[in-house]
Amino acid sequence: MSNREQTLSIIKPDAVERNLDNEIKEIFKSNGFKIINEKKIKIEKSEAEQFYKVHETKPFYNDLCAYLSSGPIVVMILEKENSVIANRELMGATNPKDAAEGTIRKKYGISIDKNSVHGSDSIENAKIEIDFFFKD
Ligand code: UDP
Ligand code: MG
Repeated sequence: MSNREQTLSIIKPDAVERNLDNEIKEIFKSNGFKIINEKKIKIEKSEAEQFYKVHETKPFYNDLCAYLSSGPIVVMILEKENSVIANRELMGATNPKDAAEGTIRKKYGISIDKNSVHGSDSIENAKIEIDFFFKD
């Protein structure tokens, strides 16, 4: 039974700034993810605020939106069986300090805010996030 699904991945400014985008893309590919679409962009703070609206009441919301819009990012549609969960596993815990060995955040994350990658947290949110960046 195939359960191929899509998820949205973002390589965040801290990683793009260190030229890690190709290396991180290779990690996705070698873990069986197909990159269906990708683009390197820089977003406005207002767009980051819309993207992270679910966090608008959190104390870190303003800094988070300033950060995501602070430099180029790479947004990608990834496809694989159970890709939402598979991507969350490959990314590791939100705080790189807590991320398991072998995860992207363990390897590249600098801090809880500069944690190198974003990944959708549910199939429903994956659809919303993919539309946010790729529906024209
Ligand atoms: N974040 C932060 N401080 C916190 C919690 C989260 O700066 O105390 C940032 C972090 O970059 C994280 C993003 O907000 O990736 C979204 O938080 P979420 O809880 O959704 O974590 P994720 O789904 O990215 O693991
Ligand atoms: Mg999240």
